[in-house]
Amino acid sequence: MPHRAFIGIGSNLGDRKANYFEAIDRIQKIPGTRVLKQSSLYESEPLGDAKTWFVNGVIELETEYGPDELLKRLLQIETTMGRKRVSGKRWGSRIIDLDILLFDSEIINKRNLKVPHPELQNRRFVLLPLSELAPQLVHPKLAASVSALLAGLKDRKKIHLLRAG
Ligand code: ATP
Ligand code: CA
Ligand code: CA
Repeated sequence: MPHRAFIGIGSNLGDRKANYFEAIDRIQKIPGTRVLKQSSLYESEPLGDAKTWFVNGVIELETEYGPDELLKRLLQIETTMGRKRVSGKRWGSRIIDLDILLFDSEIINKRNLKVPHPELQNRRFVLLPLSELAPQLVHPKLAASVSALLAGLKDRKKIHLLRAG
């Protein structure tokens, strides 16, 4: 049985939309992996050290890979696309950011991989696109649906729709 995963995608450097879609193309090409759905595209106010607004969205995929292998592939794509990690700078600007939001209903708490993504429930730029794809999906740790998490969200950061999907 293939696994079902949701990936959060963000870019706030260079041609942000082109980066976003290039990442989806590259994910599509991971062996044994298929992109099932794509959310609308959003533009969101940056967190932390970043200055420019992000282009954000979420995709749903099916994959034969386990979570560690999938993370490895995603980090490889980030590197191939030219992302440089600046140590000590959290949430800095980046060409591309690929986060595993959910992986089946697994709960993973490793140093290098936490699933569900620990900030998912605090971020409108994640919950809004995710709610387009899977509003009824239940967060395995919080035992609340995506739409319930969105309804209870306190995130005041600005976000607007760039392109309906
Ligand atoms: P945030 O996780 O708050 O969105 P970020 O995306 O800016 O921050 P990064 O610098 O991109 O953080 O990632 C740092 C490390 O986070 C990665 O090298 C990876 O090992 C780890 N990590 C832990 N859980 C996840 C996850 N669910 N998806 C992607 N990376 C994760
Ligand atoms: Ca992130
Ligand atoms: Ca990341």
